Order: sequence, then C-alpha cells, then structure tokens
Amino acid sequence: MARYRGSVCRLCRRESEKLFLKGSRCYSEKCAIERRNFPPGQHGFNVRRKISDYGIQLREKQKVKRIYGLLENQFHNYYLKATRQKGVTGENLLVFLETRLDNIIYRLGFAPSRKSARQLVRHRHFMVNGRIVDVPSYLLRPGDVVKVKEKSKGLDIIHMALRESDRAVDLPWLRVNKANLEGELLERPKREDIPLTCQEQLIVELYSK
Ligand code: SF4
Repeated sequence: MARYRGSVCRLCRRESEKLFLKGSRCYSEKCAIERRNFPPGQHGFNVRRKISDYGIQLREKQKVKRIYGLLENQFHNYYLKATRQKGVTGENLLVFLETRLDNIIYRLGFAPSRKSARQLVRHRHFMVNGRIVDVPSYLLRPGDVVKVKEKSKGLDIIHMALRESDRAVDLPWLRVNKANLEGELLERPKREDIPLTCQEQLIVELYSK
C-alpha cells in the first residue's frame, strides 16, 4: 500500500497544530510546531491568505487524514462506507478510523505513533483473537482481543511506547493489560469518547458537494 514518505512535521506546520505523528518528539521542545509554527515553504512565514469556506473544509479533511496516516483514496473509501451506515456520517467515519488495527495499537500504548504501529503490524508482531494479522487497516469489532506475539514481547519499541503512554488518556471503549501486552475493544467508540479535536461535519460537507 502506498504511503506518504515526506517530512511529517511539515504536515503539522501546514495545519498549524500538533498532529502527534512522531511519538516522544512531539512532546519535546524539538517539536517543529514549538519552534516554527508557520506554514512550510518559501513564503510560509509571510503569506496570510483569507481562507474560504471550501478551504476550511479542505484543511479539516487534510488534518484528519494526516492524523490517521492515510492517503486520499483510502480516506475517501472510509467516507463512502460511513455514508452507507446508519447514523451520523461524520461519527461513523471516525469510528472506522478509530477501529483500524494500527490505531487501536497506538491507543493501547503499544506503539509511540500510528506510523510505527503500522510498521509493527506489517512486521507481524501482533495477533487478533489468537491469529497473526499483518494488515494495518484491519477493522476490529467489539470483543476482539489484540495481543503482542509471544516472540515479540521483548521488543524495545513496545516497552518504550508503554512507558510513554502513561500520558495517554484512558478510553472507556478499550481495555488494556500492560503486563500481558494485550488489549480488547470493548465497544464501538462514541464520538464524545474519541479524543480527537476536529469538526467531522466539515469533512462530510466537503465530500458531499
Ligand atoms: Fe508534529 Fe510531532 Fe513533528 Fe511536532 S514533532 S511537528 S507534533 S510530528
């Protein structure tokens, strides 16, 4: 699957906010948003354009897409799936994004970022309900148990992430057992329990034009 290979701090600077794409660096003073909080590029520092309604919707979509590390096609497919579901489309979209295996691993604190969660999954370090799953986009259902494979329990990156994840919020829809390196998706997340500051209705407005 194709993925973005450029500088990720640049993406945060474009959105003028921290998207937490790099693990512990994001919490340090080395974070590019702390040091250079203006859009990237030659004229980023000087140019202040008035942003249109379309621009506001586009920026919101780009922000969410980048937080979850997706490319346009994948993201749009989630939107299409969300429209076919009952309920509020924006909320459905976020639920799809949140229940991806790479995101759940990040939320459980087993990886410092969604990007490294994705790599760990690709490298076959995780099992879902006792079977190895190497597809980061695998969608979990309530009751699914994610576990670090026995042979991978000594991996430094997982233990480092766990130490750092103490700053992560406790989520009511996830159960985590740090000693056993396993976690469970208890229920479908509700919007108010998803720690993401975004206006998902702007994304729906953009795509439904
Ligand atoms: Fe974004 Fe993290 Fe880079 Fe800061 S360090 S700009 S939060 S990716």
